[in-house]
Amino acid sequence: MSEFGIGIDIGGTKILFNLIDEDGKVFKKGFVKTGDTNEEKRIIEDMIKMINSIKEGFNVESIGIGCAGFIDYKKGVVIKSPNINFLENYPLKNIIEDNVKIPTFIDNDVKMGAIGELFFGEGVDSPFFIFLTLGTGIGGAIVYKNKLIRGMNNLAGEIGHITLDKEGIFCGCGKRGCFEKLSSGGSIKDYVVQGIKMGRKTKILDKVDNDIQKIDTIIIMDLAFENDELCVEAVLNSLQYVGLVVSYLINIFNPDKIIIGGGLTKGLGYFFNRIIDFAMLYSLKIPFENVKIVKAGLEIEATSIGAGIYGLKMIKGDEL
Ligand SMILES: [Zn+2]
Repeated sequence: MSEFGIGIDIGGTKILFNLIDEDGKVFKKGFVKTGDTNEEKRIIEDMIKMINSIKEGFNVESIGIGCAGFIDYKKGVVIKSPNINFLENYPLKNIIEDNVKIPTFIDNDVKMGAIGELFFGEGVDSPFFIFLTLGTGIGGAIVYKNKLIRGMNNLAGEIGHITLDKEGIFCGCGKRGCFEKLSSGGSIKDYVVQGIKMGRKTKILDKVDNDIQKIDTIIIMDLAFENDELCVEAVLNSLQYVGLVVSYLINIFNPDKIIIGGGLTKGLGYFFNRIIDFAMLYSLKIPFENVKIVKAGLEIEATSIGAGIYGLKMIKGDEL
């Protein structure tokens, strides 16, 4: 009889659920809207209901959960999550287990995404890869010989918070000038808005009926593909920093692959190659010639699928 695992991705607006088998095949999926993230009771109840509905008729052996923030994966405690207010020093593993009686494992969402890539994406057969996600924020994870490099506090791979501008704008982490503040979706938007305020010419105002609030990275990317000068510049400015950080990763780790995922990457189209061009500028020659810089194989479900397989592996005593 096949074994199944449920993988859960706790995001700021949605909590995604996937029922998968050991080959990563998805049999059922669902989601719960996060809503007001102070509402502990409602959110937990919704999650339990969804788990019970998804497991119906399947031999579910384990649950894996990926959650943004700092996670004590050994104890199954969310120490702090930027997305969900009530998840602070919160024993999520025990609470889920007490309610559904299925062994549950929790780790950081980007680490779970990297596990997804390791088993079913670009990380298959890669001895040493670094996973980078570009989206609203920037995350990272390092996988060496099929294991996550966690560091002493499970915080290795916090690539988004490398300081690139010592006098830059403040970041949610408390520091300033973080990579995340220079290259995420929000920073691309900020660049365009700043340009408009300085009187730069752009077609974007027509697209949003002169309402700056409506500008988002999707519209900016559309116009970048149409060669709108300001939008192209905003995208390249962001990607130059991505290339710079990728070169740091290449020079420090000499990895086999850099796998780049996240919502922003998906829409980059041919601009993705500019990351490679910029990385080449700043990397040492030999490690650059031996690294592959690729788009992630799994898309928005990388974390939930990764969490699903993580649970199934952990229950067998595998270490990841
Ligand atoms: Zn930061």
